[in-house]
Amino acid sequence: MEKSAKIYIAGHRGLVGSAIVKVLLAKGYSNLVMRTHAELDLTSQQAVIEFFSKEKPEYVFLAAAKVGGIHANNTYPAEFIYDNLAIQTNVIHQCYVHGVKRLLFLGSSCIYPKLAPQPIKEEYLLTGALEPTNRPYALAKIAGIEMCWSYNRQYGTQFLAVMPTNLYGPGDNYHPENSHVIPALIRKFHDAKINNLPDVTVWGTGTPRREFLFNQDMADACVFLMQLEESKFRSLLNSDQPASEKFQPPLINVGFGSDVTIEYLADTIKSTIDFQGQIIYDKTKPDGTPRKLMDSSLLFSLGWQPNTALKDGLSRAYAEFKNKY
Ligand code: GDP
Repeated sequence: MEKSAKIYIAGHRGLVGSAIVKVLLAKGYSNLVMRTHAELDLTSQQAVIEFFSKEKPEYVFLAAAKVGGIHANNTYPAEFIYDNLAIQTNVIHQCYVHGVKRLLFLGSSCIYPKLAPQPIKEEYLLTGALEPTNRPYALAKIAGIEMCWSYNRQYGTQFLAVMPTNLYGPGDNYHPENSHVIPALIRKFHDAKINNLPDVTVWGTGTPRREFLFNQDMADACVFLMQLEESKFRSLLNSDQPASEKFQPPLINVGFGSDVTIEYLADTIKSTIDFQGQIIYDKTKPDGTPRKLMDSSLLFSLGWQPNTALKDGLSRAYAEFKNKY
C-alpha cells in the first residue's frame, strides 16, 4: 500500500475505525477519506454508489456497523440484521464495481458457534448453533464473509474478513447498562472512588475467562494485513479454491493470544483506578459463556504480535475516560 494511496475508512468514529485512522496517520498515510453517518448513509444503495463513483478509494477498511451489547441486540434485532446486511452489501459490491485493490471487512468473534471449542479457530465457522441473542448480527456478518469469498472467487478481488476478540480502549462506549465489561467496570470503580463508596459490584462469579485486545493493537493488525505482500495476502483468500469443507472463506482472527478471569480483570481495574474499597460479586447476574478465546495463530504466523499489555491498555483507556467524562 503506497503512502499516497487513497484509503476509505468506513466507521472512522468507532472504536476500531478511529484507531485505524490514528495508526494510518502515524505510519505516514495521509490520503484518507472519511464520512460521518450524517454525510453518508451506508444503508442507502444510491448514496454508496454516488460516494464510490466520486471518491474511487483504492483501499477500504469496512469498520462501520450497527453494534452493541446483549441488551441492544435483544431490543433492536431487526435493525441489527437490516443495517448490517445493507451496509456491507452496498460497500462490498461497490468495492468490486470500482476496482478497490483490497478490502478489510470487520466483524466480531460472535460469528462463531456458541459452544465452539477453545481457542476458537477460523475453521469453526458454521460448525454449530450461534448464540441466540446476537444471531441477527452474527448472521449478517457471516453473509458478509461469504460475500467476500464469493467475489474473490468469481471476480478475483482481494477482500478479507477480519474478526477481532473483545476490544477496549479510547473511544469505547461507557454506557452504564449497554457497555461491555471493561468500560462498565472503569465507570463503576471511578464513580465509587469519586463518591467514596465502600464497594463496587461486579456481575457474576468472577470465574469466566475473556480475552481482551487494545483497540490500537487491533488497528495495527488491520494496517499490517492491508500492507501484506501480495503472495501472503493471496494465501489468506482461497480465491482459486472451490467452496468445500476443505477450503475456508477468507477469514482471519485477531486476538491477544491469552485470556484472564473476570476476577483478575476487576482487581487490575481496581488498582488502575486506585480504588480502596471492596469488590462484591453479584452471583444473581449472569456469567455468560465460561470462556471466549480466539486462536490467532494464523495472524501470529505472519509476523504480527499485539504490543499492549492489559495493564497498560487499561491505564490508557482510563486516562481517556477521565478526560472525556
Ligand atoms: P460477553 O463477553 O459477551 O459475556 O460480554 P460482557 O463484556 O458484557 O461480559 C463479560 C463478563 O464480565 C461476563 O461474565 C459478565 O457477567 C462479567 N461482568 C462483570 N461485571 C460486569 C459489568 O458491570 N458489566 C458487564 N457488561 N459485564 C460484567
